Amino acid sequence: LQFKDLGLAEPLMKALTEQGYTTPTPIQAQSIPIVNAGTDLLGIAQTGTGKTAAFALPTLNYLLKEDIAPPKRGTRVLVLAPTRELAGQIAVSFKTYGQHFKYLSVATIFGGASVRGQIKAVVGGNDVIVATPGRLIDLIEQKALRLSDVEVLILDEADQMMDMGFIHALRKIVPLLPQKRQTLFFSATMPKSISKLAAQFLTNPKTVSV
Ligand code: AMP
Repeated sequence: LQFKDLGLAEPLMKALTEQGYTTPTPIQAQSIPIVNAGTDLLGIAQTGTGKTAAFALPTLNYLLKEDIAPPKRGTRVLVLAPTRELAGQIAVSFKTYGQHFKYLSVATIFGGASVRGQIKAVVGGNDVIVATPGRLIDLIEQKALRLSDVEVLILDEADQMMDMGFIHALRKIVPLLPQKRQTLFFSATMPKSISKLAAQFLTNPKTVSV
């Protein structure tokens, strides 16, 4: 199986070639068709398996169908991650794979940096916001952004988010999103607490485990 068999549009194929990626990893080969079909996904995968591209590529492929200039609607894709480091890496991946889009705005929101700068970054809406849960709630409470236009929700390293005590934040954030959305939920491990959470956030998901 090759990337060209996964239904990814030309700007993404070009970015992949430039990155030197020749073949999809197993999590990518299995996840991308599911996400392209608009189905919810429960992905059980560790870091290093290529899971970031497994959710970023098909999500960008979806955004590409409307590669529209600002002024846009609100945020279309929300990615939640446990740490600022991971949020930063995910944002870089979206920007790298999306570098041949005409229009793509990716904002990163995390604790420990000035709130004011981050509010500036989200004014006017973004295609993709990558956020840690605590700081995202701060910005929501300050009415700096709204989540009512989000079409795709991605939770990365859900087990880590639980371990770091983000459960209350997640329970606050997810109900602010439209119920009609696509949700992609990734975790390295799947203890009962995580599968219960996944069951609450996902609708008829397909599971991929690598
Ligand atoms: P991740 O598991 O998302 O942290 O990705 C692990 C590393 O693998 C990252 O440095 C990616 O750039 C790289 N990578 C992801 N997918 C591929 C691929 N299909 N071919 C080669 N490298 C990849």
